[in-house]
Parts: sequence; C-alpha cells; structure tokens
Amino acid sequence: MPTLPVLRYPHQTLRARSLEVDNVNDEIRRIITDMIDTMYASPGCVGVAAPQVGYPLRIFVIDVSRKIGPKKNHGLLALVNPVVAYSEGEKITREGCLSIPDFLGNVKRARKLIVMGINPEGKEVEILSQGLEAIAFQHEIDHLNGVLFIHRISSLTGDLVRRKSTPKDTKD
Ligand SMILES: [Zn+2]
Repeated sequence: MPTLPVLRYPHQTLRARSLEVDNVNDEIRRIITDMIDTMYASPGCVGVAAPQVGYPLRIFVIDVSRKIGPKKNHGLLALVNPVVAYSEGEKITREGCLSIPDFLGNVKRARKLIVMGINPEGKEVEILSQGLEAIAFQHEIDHLNGVLFIHRISSLTGDLVRRKSTPKDTKD
C-alpha cells in the first residue's frame, strides 16, 4: 500500500479547481487507499485532499481521531464530491497543511457543518460534523477549490506563524 508524494506550495495543482468524480470505481478506491496510507504515514496529519497528492479530483480523506481520540468525530472518513449543505457558527483556530509544512495560520471557520457526498462504496452520505473534524472538512474542501489556508488568513504578519516542529501540530 504505497504512500504518495505530497505536493507543496506553490505547485500549480494546489491552486486549481479539482474535477467532480463521475463514477466511484476501483481506480478511485485505489487512490483513496493510497491517500489514507499517505495521511497515516504523516505525523500529525488529520486529512489529505486528492490534489495534494497530484490527483485533481474532488476527493478527501480525514481522520481527526488520531489527534483528539474517538469522541465527537467519525474516525476515518473518505468522501467524494463533497458539498457543504449547511454551516453554523464561527471560530478561529490555528491550522497547518502538509503542503505548507513550515507555517501555521489563524483561520476563521464554521463551527458546525453538514457535508453531503459519496462514500467509497458509491453511496450518498450526509455527515453532521463539529469541532476539529468540521474544521478539517472545510480545510480539505478548500483544497478541492484551489484554496489554501494562507489565502484565508487576514494578516500575513499577525496570523501566519513559523511552525516549531512538535509532533502535536495538526497538519491537513
Ligand atoms: Zn492542507
């Protein structure tokens, strides 16, 4: 089960809008498996979006239970063609990204979300999410639209900080 090389900012694939997946077939499931392996092989990583590993497709994988345990999240999730159906509240949290390994940024996100999409079995699903998982959802969906966290911070001097290398940092 191979891990995939992660593209880094300013690679142009990270700035492109990824394409809808027409059919969740074995090829898509193979990509998802490799994305999961890549996430688990990266210390502190709680999510990977397909364009980060070179596939401009609307797919992401998330597992925030790695960081916060099993409470208040769904553990491992893989979602194809995700859409935010509802969002609520506002919160500023410090985010990192595998594609921007040296920095963290303060980003404003919704607190609670309902996301709809297709699971690896090809079934439509609807997921209510909150806390770190909701933030990871928004971060990964941004990737599918070519948006990185550095494009969401309000001040380059106040909201962008150089990462100290601690294994507790979250990377998406
Ligand atoms: Zn990221």
